[in-house]
Amino acid sequence: MPCLAGNNTYYMSNATQVIHSIPTDPLTGAISVPIYQTSTFVQEAPGVNKGFDYARTNNPTRQTLEQIAAKLENGSTAAAFASGLAAIDAVVKLLKSGDEIVAVDDIYGGAFRLFTQVYEKFGIKVTFTDTTDVTNVFNAITPATKLIWIETPTNPTLKISDIAAIAQVAKTYGCLLCVDNTFASPALQQPLNLGADLVIHSATKYLGGHCDSIAGLVVAKDAEIGKQIKFIQNASGAILSPFDSWLIIRGIETLHLRVKQHCANALAVAQYLETHPQVATVYYPGLPSHPNHAIAKQQAKGFGGVVSFTLKNDTLQAAVNFVSNTELFLLAESLGGVKSLICHPANMTHKTIPEATRQAAGVADSLIRLSVGLEEADDLIADLAATFQLLATQTTQQNQPQAVN
Ligand SMILES: *Cc1c(COP(=O)(O)O)cnc(C)c1O
Repeated sequence: MPCLAGNNTYYMSNATQVIHSIPTDPLTGAISVPIYQTSTFVQEAPGVNKGFDYARTNNPTRQTLEQIAAKLENGSTAAAFASGLAAIDAVVKLLKSGDEIVAVDDIYGGAFRLFTQVYEKFGIKVTFTDTTDVTNVFNAITPATKLIWIETPTNPTLKISDIAAIAQVAKTYGCLLCVDNTFASPALQQPLNLGADLVIHSATKYLGGHCDSIAGLVVAKDAEIGKQIKFIQNASGAILSPFDSWLIIRGIETLHLRVKQHCANALAVAQYLETHPQVATVYYPGLPSHPNHAIAKQQAKGFGGVVSFTLKNDTLQAAVNFVSNTELFLLAESLGGVKSLICHPANMTHKTIPEATRQAAGVADSLIRLSVGLEEADDLIADLAATFQLLATQTTQQNQPQAVN
């Protein structure tokens, strides 16, 4: 299935495979995966069961999602969790006190909070570095490093790290590489095929795709590590419910179709923004002006649905005015849903980060993040154009001399 991304034609393979990896019910022929809303399973004799004994350990609906997710990411094992953060938490639990993590500096805020405010007190140390340059990763590694943690693209400046190169470093030093693949989704990028050991997802975003569920996934390449993740899933208990498992399966059915449209719309919006006189910088890996465009093109089949930009009037107030006045872009955190969302990181997702640290990470006062949805691109551009127009009018009015009555 051809997917136009910029001037290049990429191929989203696997759409047919994914749709048909979702099984029909062998018992009844139901084409939709049944929701097994049960806590326990009746046994024929003590210890004799049909593969299920207690639903924290295993549930048929969740198991179906896990099998589909393992196929999507080409891993041996997948485990579904109650949130993306619970999935991240399960990966950190592979470590022990004294171990160290090297993590991307532009990390998801919730992962930053978990690493520094929960796990540091258990003796796990984290070093943050700019992983877009593989030498930084190399330099941050110590004999105690057991895990390298990257996101690519990152949030909200959409920096891209070279997964294969970092996987090589991880292999050389005997560490695991885990990629948070939430922003790209497996429709565009399969980190395990590039040498990563683990992938996590906030399935809340593109996999679910409809802003109606909070869910997380871990996929392991190696069966032995997969077994440890499944052990942690059962031992710690942060499992995904049968109904939410069903919602994520239903989302995955249209993943490739949706992501194709997200990419096309995001590129159109990014190209529009790049030419707008009120815009300072556009962050989108699909633009040739993006500093990591070449590696993005090499390791992914498309550039995703998130676009960020800054205003020439680089003030908090200008961004607040902008995000408060769009009509189709709804003001909300999160991404990957059908409806377009707009967010002002300095006041929303990145509010708890100290101002200087935030600005140093490239998240300017006026930076605005868009999750470009599945509306018609022309309508989305018209919404942005009207908002720029409104702001320009307000600025002109403010600059006019006050009338004296
Ligand atoms: C949302 C998000 C998470 C956390 O997922 P939840 O489902 O909200 O717990 C982790 N990583 C990234 C990149 C995210 O966008």
